[in-house]
Amino acid sequence: MNSQNSKYDVIVLGAGVAGISAAIHAVRRGLKPLVIESTAHVGGRARSFKDRVSGDIIDNGQHVMMGCYASFFDIVKTLGSMGKIKKQDVLTIPFHFPDGRKDLLHAKGIGSVNGSLGMALGLLRLSFLTGKDKINLLIFSIRVKLGLCKPGLMTAMELLLSESQSQSVIDKVWAPVILATMNGKPEEVSAKIFITVLKRAFFGPGDSSSLYIPQCGLSELFEPFGSWIEEHGGTLIQSTGVRHIEITNEGVRGVFLVDDTFIECRHVISAIPPHALLHILPESVHCLDYFSSLDRIRYSPIISLYLWFDKAFPSIDLAAIMESSTQWIFRKTTIMEHGESLLALTISAGDDIVNMSTEDIAQACAKEVRMCFPEMIDARLLHWKVIKERMATVLIDPETEECRPDQSTPVKGLYLAGDWTRTGLPATLEGAAYSGGIAASFI
Ligand SMILES: Cc1cc2nc3c(=O)[nH]c(=O)nc-3n(C[C@H](O)[C@H](O)[C@H](O)COP(=O)(O)OP(=O)(O)OC[C@H]3O[C@@H](n4cnc5c(N)ncnc54)[C@H](O)[C@@H]3O)c2cc1C
Repeated sequence: MNSQNSKYDVIVLGAGVAGISAAIHAVRRGLKPLVIESTAHVGGRARSFKDRVSGDIIDNGQHVMMGCYASFFDIVKTLGSMGKIKKQDVLTIPFHFPDGRKDLLHAKGIGSVNGSLGMALGLLRLSFLTGKDKINLLIFSIRVKLGLCKPGLMTAMELLLSESQSQSVIDKVWAPVILATMNGKPEEVSAKIFITVLKRAFFGPGDSSSLYIPQCGLSELFEPFGSWIEEHGGTLIQSTGVRHIEITNEGVRGVFLVDDTFIECRHVISAIPPHALLHILPESVHCLDYFSSLDRIRYSPIISLYLWFDKAFPSIDLAAIMESSTQWIFRKTTIMEHGESLLALTISAGDDIVNMSTEDIAQACAKEVRMCFPEMIDARLLHWKVIKERMATVLIDPETEECRPDQSTPVKGLYLAGDWTRTGLPATLEGAAYSGGIAASFI
């Protein structure tokens, strides 16, 4: 065993968004962090790679941010990458149906006042809702804004039904919102977190609901982290995982790397997913109440597709796809020879689809593109790539929400970060970044 006396104040496990955020906040507190990442890349579940056939850089799945992502933008700005994310000034979402129908959500308020007013007016302008649906939707929105909804331990579906939302409004408005922001179905996810999403993002102040879309591969946003941490007295080790956190009666003593090197340190922030954490914790702490919920946490898949067509796609940045397997389409650019358009498609909470063959998924979704966009009816699919992230995010159902662990643990010197920890937010980039800041604040 090779042993190193640590010259670091804190070891951060994992260089996903939560780990990056924890390290940045540790530096701001005057500490020297050592960040250990088991893979060769930073960014964790938000990463990109080169598609060999087309030469295009694609992500493991299209990521979208919202104006309310204060913690995430804080770290992106720190890394100097904010200029690579494009802001949609006013939330604008075209809706496309397989029979060629279209609608538009344009959350424009009056004058420069957008925010909740813009969102309410945008929803009222949707032509696919009946007058009665619009009134019930407006009443619910006002009740959310005033904090009058009491979600308790309900699922989002139970709450929506109790708030007189019709099945049509649930299917056409709330289910797409829930799938996109919580990666779960209305009948699964926690109503408490759903209300938070509505309050913070959709009915929040100013530009909270504006969409932000990266204009580069996701990895490019986080690449500067390696040099940033070195310049600030810390270190990033990549391609070496932690296999064990050493804990004694006095608390954390350090970590063992997979090659058996021991690094001593009295403070460890684990910013890795719950199943990975369980593997590296000593058996002796598994029985603590605090850790006992980790193996009950369920995950929800996201299926992402990239489709290359020989025909140009209409000039819209993104579209919500209704009554189809495909939920969202984003227009990307391609360098592929003869490729006239590249589309990124997203299917959240895709449990029903994840076991289909990638070829079947690609062909079915290409068909939906042709149906929803009649201009593409004769477009030929030149190339496709399907990425199945089976453990894309944890599923925040009411029970999981109750047992999400705090960032401070009962083990002295051990802290947790990650989108799945208790943040009051869904499992997103923002939740991950926010959790890192909280974890670092304890040291
Ligand atoms: C396809 C897809 C689409 C998504 N879309 C969106 C979106 O549009 N908007 C949004 O806000 N969120 C989205 N998300 C969710 C978002 O990506 C995650 O919430 C966020 O990236 C989680 O960050 P994290 O740091 O908590 O965890 P992770 O990114 O999982 O980071 C954990 C890191 O720890 C490393 N690690 C694991 N074990 C060890 C070990 N033993 N030793 C050292 N390192 C280890 C891993 O390699 C990883 O780099 C999406 C996720 C997916 C998969």
